[in-house]
Amino acid sequence: MSFEQLQKEIDLWAQQFTVPYWKPHEIIVRLLEESGELAREVNHIYGPKKKKSTEENKEMGAEICDIFMNLICLANSQGIKLDDHWKDLINKLNNRDSLRFEKK
Ligand SMILES: [Mg+2]
Repeated sequence: MSFEQLQKEIDLWAQQFTVPYWKPHEIIVRLLEESGELAREVNHIYGPKKKKSTEENKEMGAEICDIFMNLICLANSQGIKLDDHWKDLINKLNNRDSLRFEKK
């Protein structure tokens, strides 16, 4: 699946609302909320802070998707096509940073 497909899927959903996308700074705040939810799950699994008995279990994967959704909303609201930037990122990893980490 490409980012184009993901971006279209989110846009189809968003366009049903009178305000399809929040303002960028509002999306960033939401992104921080979702990042906190992911951090909380990671902390519960790997850290010293365990859940309260009344607290529901959440999937890390679901929290990661919440973050992606907000990032896609930010990109869509700004007319950014993520596939182009993803190609640049992969190119950077395979070239500029190819010797940066110890290989197998
Ligand atoms: Mg969440």
